Amino acid sequence: AAEITLPGRTRVITISNQKGGVGKTTTAVNIASSLAQVGAKVLVIDLDPQGNASTALGVPHTADIPSVYDMLIDDFPIADIIQVSPESPNLLCAPSTIHLAGAEIELVSQVAREHRLKTALDEYLANTTERIDFVIIDCPPSLGLLTINAFTAAHELLIPIQCEYYALEGLSQLLGTVRMIQKHLNPALHLSTIILTMYDGRTRLAQQVAEEVREHFPNEVLKTVIPRSVRVSEAPSFGQTVIAYDGQSAGAIAYREAAVEIIQREAATSGAAANEGGS
Ligand code: ADP
Ligand code: MG
Repeated sequence: AAEITLPGRTRVITISNQKGGVGKTTTAVNIASSLAQVGAKVLVIDLDPQGNASTALGVPHTADIPSVYDMLIDDFPIADIIQVSPESPNLLCAPSTIHLAGAEIELVSQVAREHRLKTALDEYLANTTERIDFVIIDCPPSLGLLTINAFTAAHELLIPIQCEYYALEGLSQLLGTVRMIQKHLNPALHLSTIILTMYDGRTRLAQQVAEEVREHFPNEVLKTVIPRSVRVSEAPSFGQTVIAYDGQSAGAIAYREAAVEIIQREAATSGAAANEGGS
């Protein structure tokens, strides 16, 4: 088994793609669960009003539950909304509720509207007695204020790309938004990882899309590809990640490998930086 070195500081990774149905939420919860399984403490922040990440992590998120809405709009501390996933004591979730659907509009008139998540997260990380290794933010399928809050709070952007026609469409708009955020709100944000999802190796199209994405982003695309697998799509209806639902399925194995890659690439990068005297 691979040697796991945890980061030693909190890595904040936002999972975004303004397209819906590309595997953002599936990637967020399964990477998070895989990281938790190898001993990392992981906080998933569900920023999508649909609350699919909260569902998959088995965390209640009915309208009466304190949620990221209360954090963004009413200054609730993150510590007051966090729940522990039944899947693992290492797996925490700040749930979303239906109220979040209105937040996109309510945020417009708020002070420091782009920084609300970052402020809350910084405050939580500075005061918690937990050692949080990873924060994984699951974004809605848009480039509105919720996603901008995620970009402002994160160091790393992870983009899931579905291996189908039009896979790269919309990517330049996403990367344009990232450049705007880097310039005006968060210089630390960078595209660290691209993950190919729902891959069906039997089709030539999937192979071609994977090749094309690797050509464009040779350093960002993970070696591990997530196969299309029924077990992956079944798991959320049991309130589980596929890691818990069927840990030996192809999808679970792939997500665990992807998580190890995410840990190891960063370890390699920071090692190189340290050797060059950088930070
Ligand atoms: P997004 O968050 O980008 O909208 P989801 O993660 O919700 O996308 O995935 C969209 C749909 O595709 C869901 O029904 C999900 O269960 C399914 N899905 C995601 N990844 C896979 C996979 N590897 N194999 C089969 N189905 C998948
Ligand atoms: Mg989603």
